[in-house]
Amino acid sequence: MLIDIGVNLSNSRFEKDREAVLKRAQEAGVERLILTGTSIAESQTVVDICDQYADQFPGMLYATAGIHPHDSSGYNRESATVLRTLAQHPSVVSIGETGLDFNRNLSTEKEQQLSFEAHIELAIELGMPLFLHERDAAQRQIEILKSYRDNITEAVIHCFTGDKKTLFNYLDMNLHIGITGWICDERRGLELQKIASNIPLNRLMIETDAPYLTPRNMPKTPKNSRNEPAFLTSVLAGLCAVRSEPEDVIAAETSATAIKFFGLAE
Ligand SMILES: [Zn+2]
Repeated sequence: MLIDIGVNLSNSRFEKDREAVLKRAQEAGVERLILTGTSIAESQTVVDICDQYADQFPGMLYATAGIHPHDSSGYNRESATVLRTLAQHPSVVSIGETGLDFNRNLSTEKEQQLSFEAHIELAIELGMPLFLHERDAAQRQIEILKSYRDNITEAVIHCFTGDKKTLFNYLDMNLHIGITGWICDERRGLELQKIASNIPLNRLMIETDAPYLTPRNMPKTPKNSRNEPAFLTSVLAGLCAVRSEPEDVIAAETSATAIKFFGLAE
């Protein structure tokens, strides 16, 4: 069994064939998906998708509720109220994605920080784990997380792509690390390939971040180049290539970690 902890299933590229995508995931052994909420609207949509498919795919779909750093200019008192309500929906197992992204600064650094801290406070209040994003903002992100760490239950840095120093800082704070198809990228993924064996097995989880980041180690590239949860097996293979454990051990451990981290049905 595999668990994909990051799927953007509300993305319009899945609009026409969501059911087929879920079936292919199941056939590939990807039995649980955490759907990423990236804005108030998207968080509402992923919760709706969980409800919509609950009978057909029992126990398979879960969601996060949050506002991506790119969208954090949209964080205000009103969205905070909606977010709090969404967070308490039975399908929602994590707060996020949230964090800092100084790579593109689509929202100002100040807006990002305000929204990030509000998400952390909500997660603490509700006793829920955090689903975190960070790009080119490690130092500030670490500072903020440090000041709250004692009160945060658990947090995962999803789609980790940072350097060794950043990785060790996150691990020192007892955070979990999410690995995507970035690890399969023979151009951009070289540094990650070098350092991924430093992550303790019980801190690791895997994700596709579909429809983005199609693994480049796939035997045949899908013709629309869209990534989907069934391709998590290729992320696993890419991770296995740079670690010492056999593939079935990594599969079992990352799944057990995800079940515990998000409190999923076993
Ligand atoms: Zn992200």
